[in-house]
Amino acid sequence: MSETFKVLEVSCPVCGETKNINIPVAIFSQKKFGTVKIQVPVNAVCPEHQFIVFVDTKGVVRGYEKIDIQMAIITPETDKEVERRLNLRKLIQLFGIYGIFSLIHAKIFNYPSYIIKDKNFEYSEEILNTVGDMILPESFSGSKTIYLLDGPSLNKLNIKDKDALIMDTQQHIFQTPWNVKMKFEEGIVKRALEIIDEQEQLKLLQQDIGRLINEANHATYILQDIKKIYEDELIEQLSKNLKIKTISNYRLNLIKEYIRRNISKTLASKIKSRVGEFLSII
Ligand SMILES: [Zn+2]
Repeated sequence: MSETFKVLEVSCPVCGETKNINIPVAIFSQKKFGTVKIQVPVNAVCPEHQFIVFVDTKGVVRGYEKIDIQMAIITPETDKEVERRLNLRKLIQLFGIYGIFSLIHAKIFNYPSYIIKDKNFEYSEEILNTVGDMILPESFSGSKTIYLLDGPSLNKLNIKDKDALIMDTQQHIFQTPWNVKMKFEEGIVKRALEIIDEQEQLKLLQQDIGRLINEANHATYILQDIKKIYEDELIEQLSKNLKIKTISNYRLNLIKEYIRRNISKTLASKIKSRVGEFLSII
């Protein structure tokens, strides 16, 4: 078995504890992906922290990203639990917390998700798509966006879609077609995990995502009648009309991404940044 794994020395970006972890060699043969994100759960390197390690195709560590969310609530399943039911906690066990943030992001912003499954993965495409739909407001659900691929023939993978999320069921993420941080997703998952009732958890996610979609729809309505608008002006109009105290630049970027991916690229491009305009003058 030794030739199928590569030993990687990994240090916790929070406390510095260092340990070797085994990474399947096949991961590094995916030259087309550049940097692969590997999720390191609590106890894999240190007992307190979980994080993402960025590894290039040569197997060299290129960087780390902390995950602040506390996952202490994720306890192993008891026998009494219904085996095949997929809830938020089970999903986090399957895909890792960062994998879940990425899947939620892909669902909201309409990126297809390709998941390379290992032999033991027992859930169907249909179930995953159904759960994915449950976190969106009802009127937006129904389209299939999650595809399961048979592993471990990673080398034969032929996904040309640059706009797709590509990951596996071993907590490796090969491609994310966005550059934004997963702060929104982290926030809503954190809130949802504070509730005990599993159905309520998904409903809360749906509500939080619905609020973002509502803001995006309102922004779309504003954009339809104008030629262009500056980001700060749009923020002001949205806050006033929807009676929201503060819309951050980060949130506006999410609204913009939503419009671009789900409604219209042309409308999204009407939102102008003052900085961008300034740079194009000089
Ligand atoms: Zn640590």
